Amino acid sequence: MFKKILIANRGEIAVRIIRACRELGIATVAVYSAADRQALHVQQADEAYCIGPAAAKDSYLNIAALMSVAAATQADAIHPGYGFLAENADFADICAAGGLVFIGPAAAAIRSMGDKAVARQTMQQAGVPVVPGTEGVIADVETAVTVAAAIGYPVIVKATAGGGGKGMRVAGDEAALRKAVRQAQKEAELAFGNADVYLEKFLEEPRHIEFQVMADQYGQIIQLGERDCSIQRRHQKLVEESPSPALSPALRQQMGQAAVAAARAVNYQGAGTVEFLLDKHGRFYFMEMNTRIQVEHPVTELVTGLDLIKEQIAVAAGKPLSVAQDGVQSRGWALECRINAENPAENFRPSPGVIDQYLPPGGFGVRIDSAAYAGWEITPYYDSMIAKVIVWGRTRPEALARMQRALAEFVIAGIETTIPFHQQLLADEVFVSGDFNTGFLDSRQLSGD
Ligand code: ADP
Repeated sequence: MFKKILIANRGEIAVRIIRACRELGIATVAVYSAADRQALHVQQADEAYCIGPAAAKDSYLNIAALMSVAAATQADAIHPGYGFLAENADFADICAAGGLVFIGPAAAAIRSMGDKAVARQTMQQAGVPVVPGTEGVIADVETAVTVAAAIGYPVIVKATAGGGGKGMRVAGDEAALRKAVRQAQKEAELAFGNADVYLEKFLEEPRHIEFQVMADQYGQIIQLGERDCSIQRRHQKLVEESPSPALSPALRQQMGQAAVAAARAVNYQGAGTVEFLLDKHGRFYFMEMNTRIQVEHPVTELVTGLDLIKEQIAVAAGKPLSVAQDGVQSRGWALECRINAENPAENFRPSPGVIDQYLPPGGFGVRIDSAAYAGWEITPYYDSMIAKVIVWGRTRPEALARMQRALAEFVIAGIETTIPFHQQLLADEVFVSGDFNTGFLDSRQLSGD
């Protein structure tokens, strides 16, 4: 097992990784930017080093600084968390060249899933259904128009390097498509430095269903069930739950097998997520694979009882999976609400500032993953998530009631948060019914007022 892990991240996920390391008896090295001197992960790690100014490109994305801290502290491995360098294949290569274990899949697997157009082709070869669309990258607008005419409108233009809902445009007709291609290319160039886009049929009212997979270095790949992430605002997830209210046991098994086939096709190792869209007719399509631990991983932890970060570290250290597929059991219902420093009454405008009071909820079945505390300042430099509230209940109604109770207990003063929005969502009869899709929230305009 590793003796020391450097955590190349910040916020709640850095704290989450420190907790797992503590339980495994592994020492931790934190890194931080000048804006994060007082951050919780800095206080909790065994050692902490400043690696640059506030801007992420100068600190959390500064590979040279990270590698020197790793060398100076004699760390054995680097955990990238999510975001920042987590899906940067070059970084995985650099770690390996420097004699460090990158806690994640091999660089080749990151590369083949990182380019969404290549991933689509790989999945088709592996027999995993993909959304109808272009073979690869769109060479020019005319090709896009021809393909769209063949598969039918509406279509969605997506960046091959896309993530976080960026670089995507929906088009309902040819004129809109011509505009969408140009806009998506521009947005992708700005956000990712890569203007390549491809085309997919835009499915009407699909659900976003993703499967957690975990793989060791000995070819064992298991799936740990699904998370339903259909509650999204502008293609970004806000609430996740497991199991999905939409899956029958037969469909769950079929999709789980497809997820394992997807991972096997790229010789996957470590923790990963295979994302599917499920249409109204019960047909599912591969959308993308995220080659990292995800924000919403605790939902799966609560229903399976497995610590995904500990498992991820163990398989990276060369241990076999601690559980076989037939040993995986899902029990009860888990739900996560992402609490952001945003004002839902003002169109989710960011609300940075100092948290004056902070009192998280607790009690049976409630888990808070957060790096916030009273006196901590939410800065505009990084993402706006303050805390994840994750609850478990024996049934979905019990989990929903527990979430309502937990949100009502949560005190965060000094800044605006999305707690009122979540409270309104939990009272919405469509959400309570379980019969919703990815378009639900954008049609609803919940303001938390
Ligand atoms: P990102 O990597 O930026 O998160 P994804 O490819 O995962 O982008 O898509 C994010 C969301 O966008 C999906 O969960 C879904 O709501 C919507 N979406 C993406 N592709 C399609 C599609 N072909 N049809 C309908 N909705 C889609």
